[in-house]
Amino acid sequence: MSYRIGQGFDIHRSVPGDRIKLAGVEIPAPFSLDAHSDGDVVLHALTDAILGALGEKDIGFYFPPTPENKGRSSQDFVLFARRKVEERGYFIVNLDCNILCEEPKIQPWRDKLIESLSRLLEITTDRIAVKGRSLEGLGSLGQKKGIAAMVVVLLQEKQYD
Ligand code: MG
Repeated sequence: MSYRIGQGFDIHRSVPGDRIKLAGVEIPAPFSLDAHSDGDVVLHALTDAILGALGEKDIGFYFPPTPENKGRSSQDFVLFARRKVEERGYFIVNLDCNILCEEPKIQPWRDKLIESLSRLLEITTDRIAVKGRSLEGLGSLGQKKGIAAMVVVLLQEKQYD
């Protein structure tokens, strides 16, 4: 039985605005995130975690900042990575996500984010953890200059009789 583990990290700078996308869910925020796509740090980190587990190149290789990727939904990136998992004969065992930010507070949105990831990955919600992590005011993230996400994902090879 073969397992593969991957980690993903992403960060985007805050810009004037009033909403952000996290895990495919639009959330009111005191700023927006600067990005070529929709700036969803959770889905970007998740995509890189999956690609990393498979030993593939990263999200920037497959989805460079070209005109056709401008404003693109990050759900496309995750679906691309999910297809690669299936092609390689693996499935997602579980994933663990940390969102590093002072605002917005993640806890009230936690269940919605998990449900969104569950739909996107077609895995049950008990295989997904999402945590908000305050920076205690420290550093650029602590000063609300951006939002970062870290994701760890575990893949298992499918068994055939
Ligand atoms: Mg990104």
